[in-house]
Amino acid sequence: MSKHIACVVPGCTFKDSAPTEDELMKKVVAHAAKDHGVTDVPPELAAKVKAAIETR
Ligand SMILES: [Zn+2]
Repeated sequence: MSKHIACVVPGCTFKDSAPTEDELMKKVVAHAAKDHGVTDVPPELAAKVKAAIETR
């Protein structure tokens, strides 16, 4: 089992996976900073991302 995410930004095709939710969140934060210029993830965005994480 691993954690999978598709970016929550409309139109963005970024997808990634990691063994744990913590590691996946780090990848998502790095992606948001690099591709969306989001250097500070607000709690509501973090919650949205966590809600979009699939375990499979
Ligand atoms: Zn994205």
